[in-house]
Amino acid sequence: MQTHKPSSIVQHLSATGDMSPEEFRRYGYEIVDWIAQYLAETGKHPILSPVTPGAIRGMLPPHPNPGPESMDAILDDFKRIILPGITHWNMPGFMAYFNACASGPSILGEFLTSTLNVNAMLWRTSPAATELEQVTLDWIRQMLGLPNPLFGTLYESSSSSGTITALVTAREVIPNLAIRALGMAGRPDIPRLRLYISQETHMSVEKAAIAIGIGQEGVRKIETDALFRMDTMALAHAVQEDLAAGWLPFAVVATVGTTSTGSIDPVAHIADICEQYGLWLHVDAAYGGSAAIDPTMRWVLNGCERADSLCINPYKWLFTTLDGSIFYTRRPADVKAAFSLLPDYLENAESLSDEVPNMMEYGLALGKRFRALKLWMVIRYFGQEGLASRIHMHCDLAQLLARRIEASPDFQLLAPVSFSLVCFRAHHTNAIDDEAQLEILNQRIIEHVNAEGHFFLSHTRIKKRFALRVAVGNLRITEANIDELWITLQAALATEQAVL
Ligand SMILES: *Cc1c(COP(=O)(O)O)cnc(C)c1O
Repeated sequence: MQTHKPSSIVQHLSATGDMSPEEFRRYGYEIVDWIAQYLAETGKHPILSPVTPGAIRGMLPPHPNPGPESMDAILDDFKRIILPGITHWNMPGFMAYFNACASGPSILGEFLTSTLNVNAMLWRTSPAATELEQVTLDWIRQMLGLPNPLFGTLYESSSSSGTITALVTAREVIPNLAIRALGMAGRPDIPRLRLYISQETHMSVEKAAIAIGIGQEGVRKIETDALFRMDTMALAHAVQEDLAAGWLPFAVVATVGTTSTGSIDPVAHIADICEQYGLWLHVDAAYGGSAAIDPTMRWVLNGCERADSLCINPYKWLFTTLDGSIFYTRRPADVKAAFSLLPDYLENAESLSDEVPNMMEYGLALGKRFRALKLWMVIRYFGQEGLASRIHMHCDLAQLLARRIEASPDFQLLAPVSFSLVCFRAHHTNAIDDEAQLEILNQRIIEHVNAEGHFFLSHTRIKKRFALRVAVGNLRITEANIDELWITLQAALATEQAVL
């Protein structure tokens, strides 16, 4: 029999337990000072990290340190090794993808969430986490102009998981299939299910279809019109054609603010078709939804009051840190029926009454971060009008850049500017029209701009044409950043044109 011997691990320990309160205070203040300075020093770091693949890994020891190390040494390495490998999403020059902007109140909210570290899986595992989430999401519902009490409110880690929640529920409400209980495989009684999206829909929806066993063939991509919106005539036609061919249409995903161009699907028309054929309507408003907080942008959610479910990511345009995606549904009872499994060890008095929800019954995950706290702090700190005016200003800045592009003979807009997203390319009115050449030129421009370090732009392809993409969304952005970007773009064009 083995006896308990002091191991080398124990010999190395200087103490048991956590950091002392004094040490926590000391390094806590130091880190807060560092954060405040970091957020203020907007020009200091190259926005896109210039490191080569493997460089960061090469600077890190391959094995863990056997004994304790000082916080001083750890923080030094954070600055020396980690920071150079960071792409600075939180700086105003970050205009790639969709900006994910962390405001001060959100960062501080994360401190408190980490400190409490509650798991809000059940109401009783932290009543305030569940109730604050419900109140905060109802505030947001009001700010967006969505109806009450049509929407039950939940909060997911990402809109990809929200889409899975929507599609699993959509599949479960199909009468007589009982897929939750019986599964889909080996059942000749189940026709193949069909989901409708557009050519511009985010790939996460197709992934969700893969995950729930619909398969990529079960996803039908509907053509878009000249403004990149789902063609509803084509949708209706596709549903009829599929029905005639023996498919079982069950859901449509419409988008408010597509990833490439920010286009808005005609949700009200799509809702008509969904009602006619009994299809679940999920709206992906991950980026664009927040804009409806600005009263002049309220219309972007027209028709969404008829959606069965809808997701919005506060981490994209509501100044709240990753992660967190709001999942609204008009049909919380159906979501619960699709997902709820309460094992003995989680049974509780509240689950028997309908007074309060247990959030674990409304989706895939059990564990749940207290994400509502930061969102609540952001809303309280900026106020509804403060949020609206910041969003409005971002749209104004995008329009400002678009006007410069339109007025310039050297550049060309490739899509109408919606929200705060500008898609364009260098294309002189009297010069090369060769698409391959234009692509090379524009690729070089983007690499040139990104290498200079003040901006990070990404690209997309619009009707096969390579486009530069500028997404405005950072809280600390000003008109001066747009001026500088415009000068940088022109200089990059001049240089790259000369060497081409
Ligand atoms: C960002 C985005 C997504 C993906 O969101 P995640 O939260 O990362 O899953 C989906 N759809 C649209 C329109 C988006 O902009």
